[in-house]
Amino acid sequence: MTQPILFWSTNDPERRKPGLDFSDALMQGLAPDKGLYIMRREDLPQVSAAELAEFSGLPYSEIAFRIMRPFVEGRIPSDVFHAICEDAYNFDVPVEQYAPGRHILRLDRGPTASFKDFAARMMARLMQHFLKEQGRSATILTATSGDTGGAVAAAFHGLENVRVAVLYPGTEVSARQRRQMTTLKDNVFAIDIDGKFDDCQALVKHAFVDPDLTGYELTSANSINVGRLIPQSVYYFYAASRVQASEDKPLAICVPSGNFGNLMGGLLAKHMGLPVAKYLAAVNENDEVPIYWRTEEYRPVAPSRNCLSNAMNVGHPSNLSRVVALYGGTMDETGEVHAQPDMDAMRRDIASVEVSDEETRLAIRECYQLHKTVIEPHGAVGYCAVQKLGFPEKYTTIFLETAHPAKFPEVGQEVIGVDPELPESMQQSEAKSEVNFACSAEYAEFKEMLVDLLSNTK
Ligand SMILES: *Cc1c(COP(=O)(O)O)cnc(C)c1O
Repeated sequence: MTQPILFWSTNDPERRKPGLDFSDALMQGLAPDKGLYIMRREDLPQVSAAELAEFSGLPYSEIAFRIMRPFVEGRIPSDVFHAICEDAYNFDVPVEQYAPGRHILRLDRGPTASFKDFAARMMARLMQHFLKEQGRSATILTATSGDTGGAVAAAFHGLENVRVAVLYPGTEVSARQRRQMTTLKDNVFAIDIDGKFDDCQALVKHAFVDPDLTGYELTSANSINVGRLIPQSVYYFYAASRVQASEDKPLAICVPSGNFGNLMGGLLAKHMGLPVAKYLAAVNENDEVPIYWRTEEYRPVAPSRNCLSNAMNVGHPSNLSRVVALYGGTMDETGEVHAQPDMDAMRRDIASVEVSDEETRLAIRECYQLHKTVIEPHGAVGYCAVQKLGFPEKYTTIFLETAHPAKFPEVGQEVIGVDPELPESMQQSEAKSEVNFACSAEYAEFKEMLVDLLSNTK
């Protein structure tokens, strides 16, 4: 038996505390010192070239099984984990070539039509497995900028032993995003916070370290949870196995980024052996990361800027501390850099560029007019970034479409006069009534409401 892969907090760079295995890191979410769990880079399992070559003939769920198995080995029997993978990944994952050497990976075919389904569905099944095994229950507390809430709520809805509270900025999510959270009910509480995503995230982080709330077994399903990242490394392997890169034009993958959890999945894939020459972290007008890359000085954007790609309105991406850790540095949860990472190595692996709302609209129009391909604002930030940095001349490119265009009908109508048809799962939530709980961004008020909700339900 191989050693389990262990995880440490980003705030414990010397690894003074004992490492946690994957299941403990998953169930705990945030580390007690407010850092995020991450493995050592040298402990990542390596996928050989021979294994990679086999992937082109395998379905998504099988690639998921092979990539993630080393993380759960010894904790979940292989056949059980195999069944979990097949059950979680029962939908299409299209890779389309929209121009020679240029591809779009559509991660929008899951039940809530965003890439968040990939991680949420796996996490829900894993958590449920571990909770059952230990005869425990848990409360999932999640802040969302739009899509995580729906994906997590849908993935956990109706499960025994689990309750879900999702906090969303009421004025920043689209009606369709909101409905995915508010129409489920039962064990799902949708909480409308009078503030921004960063406020929601701060409330969640505060609750996790609040000793008064330990009795509720709070855990997170946000990208602060390491359980999000590992499932998110799988589609990079899958996508690379479906396109033809060459020595001449190696692979570059563009990731529309907000909290940088998606990009972290990609970086893990690279450090597990996936030959990706470059990642491109495309951001909207919340440009703290490209500025950090250029100036080597990190300053969060506060308050975050409201952009069309609303799930990426993040002024201080929590996963940046993980990216920094992967390259040998230390950044705490406030964004203060205690040890600078190897900036050159980081910039060699990851380019980053900002895309304005104006450019986002133009990208949606161009992609439709030139390539007959409908994309939504998040994907459009990715599409635009690929062009902006001239990647098609140097690389075989893939950009990630992170949500279904029907989630953002207003933009599609305004820019290209197209109203994409709703996926079936979303048609269902359109028809149901909504229930939500309104709250200010004050921690004391939020805490009172949460305790009230959790005490009055079982
Ligand atoms: C969450 C989200 C993003 C940003 O992903 P991160 O992992 O936070 O960088 C991008 N697009 C959509 C549609 C999202 O829901």
